[in-house]
Amino acid sequence: MSLTIVRLYHDLLGTYGDQGNAEVLMYRARARDIQVDLIEVAPHEPVPRSGDIYLLGGGEDGPQTAALEMLSKDGGLNTAVDNGATVFAVCAGFQLIGSRLPNASGIPIDGLGIVDAETIYTRDPRSVGELVITYNGQLDEPVLTGFENHQGLTIVGSGIQPLGTVLRGIGNGRDGADCKSPEGVHHGRVFGTYMHGPALVRNPQLADEVLASAVGQLTPFNDEFAEALAAERRHTLLK
Ligand code: GLN
Repeated sequence: MSLTIVRLYHDLLGTYGDQGNAEVLMYRARARDIQVDLIEVAPHEPVPRSGDIYLLGGGEDGPQTAALEMLSKDGGLNTAVDNGATVFAVCAGFQLIGSRLPNASGIPIDGLGIVDAETIYTRDPRSVGELVITYNGQLDEPVLTGFENHQGLTIVGSGIQPLGTVLRGIGNGRDGADCKSPEGVHHGRVFGTYMHGPALVRNPQLADEVLASAVGQLTPFNDEFAEALAAERRHTLLK
């Protein structure tokens, strides 16, 4: 079996180290004897249409808007998703795969429309700090951790599942006094999240969810070191 991972524009969307998500996916795929190729796509280069997993990270508002303009013009990411590719998009990446988001001047513009999720500018302070969520799918360990650093509020469409529910932090936005804010999005093979970390380093089971969405059921692989790191973060943040 072989897998092609496409890392998009990490020169623009690498501010928070999210490019490390590719390394974790490669490592965990190779541990299952899956052959992996990594394609790096720099700004202005064509986006391949035939990748299996596309990765987008977080960045400042200016590079985010530039990345959106290039991806929109290129069309390759949308085509790949229409053909069934997996996407794992973090923060700026999550916002730009949605339907609407603020540009670098705070003016609402169209996103790529890959998922029904709209980010709106608010005057609330930036959401900065540790983020802990309960994953909406089935995992042995459903508590996931990361850190967030973003502006605004993200509203996912009524038919769309968030990735999880916030236990600590803000995620997609404040949603009433019970603090049960949704976090991210998970629709088909498209994952969006505000969790940096990189998220797939801190959450090996989420990495396997992303991999499995592209290649099907995975053979067991227990990386004790990664599991211990994930457990340590959960323990520290929830005590
Ligand atoms: N520029 C976006 C915001 O501030 C995304 C930030 C990020 O990727 N961390 O909301």
